[in-house]
Amino acid sequence: MLPRRPTRQVRIGPVAVGGGAPVSIQSMTSTPTHEVDATVAQIHALARAGADVVRVAVPEPRDTEALRSILPQVPVPIVADVHFHYQRALEAIAAGVHKIRLNPGNIQDRGQVDRVIRACRERGIPIRVGVNEGSVVERRDKARRAEEQARLGEDYEKHLVGLMVEKLEEYLRIFDENDFGDVVLSAKSVDPRIVIAAYTAISERFDFPLHLGVTHAGPRETGCIRSVAALGTLLANGIGDTVRISYASDPVLEVQDARELLNCLGLRPRVEPELIACPTCGRIEVDLLTLVQRVREKLAGIKSPIKVAVMGCVVNGPGEAEGADVAVFAGKGRGIIYVRGEQKRTVTEAEMLDALYEECVALAGRVESGPAGLGRGGVAIAAPIPGVEAGSPPLSS
Ligand code: SF4
Repeated sequence: MLPRRPTRQVRIGPVAVGGGAPVSIQSMTSTPTHEVDATVAQIHALARAGADVVRVAVPEPRDTEALRSILPQVPVPIVADVHFHYQRALEAIAAGVHKIRLNPGNIQDRGQVDRVIRACRERGIPIRVGVNEGSVVERRDKARRAEEQARLGEDYEKHLVGLMVEKLEEYLRIFDENDFGDVVLSAKSVDPRIVIAAYTAISERFDFPLHLGVTHAGPRETGCIRSVAALGTLLANGIGDTVRISYASDPVLEVQDARELLNCLGLRPRVEPELIACPTCGRIEVDLLTLVQRVREKLAGIKSPIKVAVMGCVVNGPGEAEGADVAVFAGKGRGIIYVRGEQKRTVTEAEMLDALYEECVALAGRVESGPAGLGRGGVAIAAPIPGVEAGSPPLSS
C-alpha cells in the first residue's frame, strides 16, 4: 500500500472528505425521492449497512420539496444529484442538503452554474464535479467515433483520459473564477482500466479530494469484480477519498461491498466479524458450503470484529486459519472448535453451527467487556492430530 495522497479537505455535513480523513462510503437511493417514507427507509438501511453519505436524485420540483421532510428524518448527510436543471440545485440547497453533485456541462448556461456556486458558498456546502467517459466521447456521430478508435488503436484509452482531464480543467476554471474551492472530483467510466488511468492522471494534476466510482458496473456478480479491480488498485496506490460502488441491485449491497473493500485494504477498521473459510477440496467430509453460509448469516448479529475461520479439514486448515479468534476444523461427522488457539470442544456435524456461534458470542462478549481485547494473546492454532481429534479417519465413537 502506498501512502495516501495528500488533498485539501471538504466537509459533507459532519463527514470530512480528503485531507487525511478516513475514506468514506457513499451510496445512492433507488426510490423516487418524492416518495418520502420509502426514501427515508432506504437511507436508514444504507446507514445501517455503513454508508457515511447518501445521494438522492432530484429530477423534479416534488423531489426537492420532499427533501424538506426527508432531511430531518435521516442519520447521514445527503447529496442532491442534479442533472439538467440548475433550479433543482437551488431548491435542494435551500432545503438544506449537504452537497450538490453537478456536471456543469449539462447546465444550460454559465450564469446558471455561477448561481449554484454562489448558493453553495453561502451555505458552506461542497460540490462534486464529475465527468463520465460518456460525456466526453463523440456520441452523436458513431462513425466518427469508430474511425477515431481505429485510428488511435491502443492510444484511444490515453486519448479518452486526456479528454476527461481537459473537461475537468474546463469545469474547474468556472469554480476558480468564482473563487470556490470546496470541490470534490470524479471521472468515471465503465472500463476499470480507464477509471484507473483517469483518476491517476487527475490525482497528479489537482489536489481536490476524489470520489471514486465505476459507472454502470452492472449487476453485483460482475460489477463487484469490475469495481474492486478499479477502486482497489487506486486505493492501494493511495488515491481516493470517498467511494461509491454502484450495482444494478439493492444499494445496500454496494455499501456492504465498499465496506469490505476498505476493511481488506486496512483503510477502515472492521466493526463486525470477519469470516474466512476454506474453498473446500476433495478432502472435505462435511457439507462445508452450507455451514459457511449459515455461519455468515448468524455472525451478522455480532457487533465485534472477531475473526472466525470455518475450515474443511485438519490437513491445511490450521495453517490457513492461523490468527483466527474462533475456528472450526471439520472432519468426518465431527468438528473441533478452537478459541484463541485453545482447543475448546469436539462436536458432531449437527452441533457445529450452534457450538461455533456460542463460542463467537462468548468471545465477542469478553472482547466488548474488556478482558479479551482484540489482537491480544496467542491465537496460533496447533494442528490437531488427524485420526485422533478430528478429520479423516473419523473418530470411532
Ligand atoms: Fe481442502 Fe482442507 Fe484446505 Fe479445505 S482446509 S481446502 S478441505 S485441504
